[in-house]
Amino acid sequence: MSKAKFNKKVGVVGMELPECPVCMEQMSTPIYQCLTGHSLCNTCTVNLIPPFCPMCRQAMTQTRNWQLEDMIERATVPCPNKSAGCVYTMVNMEVEDHLKECIFRQMACPLGSVFGKCSWSGKLNGMLDHFKERHPKNLNTDDEITINNTTITNDDRHMYLVAQNKFLFIISFKIDTMQKMAYWAVQHIGSKKSAQQHVYEVHVTSNQDQRRKVIYTEHCFNDAIEANEIFRMAKCAIMPLNMMDHFLKDKRLTFSCTIKRNQPGFKKGTGSAPENKTSQNHSKAKPKGPGGNNFRTKSPGPHMPKGPNKQHKNNK
Ligand SMILES: [Zn+2]
Ligand SMILES: [Zn+2]
Ligand SMILES: [Zn+2]
Ligand SMILES: [Zn+2]
Repeated sequence: MSKAKFNKKVGVVGMELPECPVCMEQMSTPIYQCLTGHSLCNTCTVNLIPPFCPMCRQAMTQTRNWQLEDMIERATVPCPNKSAGCVYTMVNMEVEDHLKECIFRQMACPLGSVFGKCSWSGKLNGMLDHFKERHPKNLNTDDEITINNTTITNDDRHMYLVAQNKFLFIISFKIDTMQKMAYWAVQHIGSKKSAQQHVYEVHVTSNQDQRRKVIYTEHCFNDAIEANEIFRMAKCAIMPLNMMDHFLKDKRLTFSCTIKRNQPGFKKGTGSAPENKTSQNHSKAKPKGPGGNNFRTKSPGPHMPKGPNKQHKNNK
């Protein structure tokens, strides 16, 4: 028996992954054994016709080598995109999850996967150039995004690529007339961990009255999840369509997205860290004069108790 140290968390330390005795490739699971006890990789077992062990000519069985499978699942392996530049190593059973977010993987054009109009596929470092060449209108270079010809009675969907500090982000906007909602989400193209270090602010400014503005602050997801899924979970900026109507003028909607490095003190829903002077802080501190309309104070929903009733209760 091998004396390699086995650590449940880290995997097999100081031991190379066992090779299949037939194809000499790294063992892949499930692993079946012959009557004598030879263990073959899955690919070789599937290809055996008739099913006799190439090592000893005994019949193959349905008996699996669970211990070897377990060892392989827990072994630390390099990313399959190592040759492309990924230095990440992980436990074998995490490879599948990592490949969804590996920035060295072959990826499809985000516009192609949503709108089906682009068949580009390539590496992350080629995506920005691809957008410059083929989708310059979907590359957000200045702060403000204006969507023309949009109404609250038609479904709409837009997507923009943003390059910031060597990172790429996708801004998705959607009008869903079934849900009667408008959604904004910003996704970081990269790992979940890196996405968690970014927050975004969506500023929606009314084209009817510049003083009317709504600001949302949310966490970035990464691109392993579909934007539609983020919208469905409502973990993004959301505005009811009847409210968005007050922000439209001549079928024009204007908003901006600012992406920020997450400050250590930032917690969801509690604002920002002290040193993080966001415009959200400014807007909160802004004195509410006659012109400083805030949609929340201006239009309490039908669910809000009437002022006088509340006062009575408080007085008791
Ligand atoms: Zn094999
Ligand atoms: Zn055999
Ligand atoms: Zn990788
Ligand atoms: Zn494309």
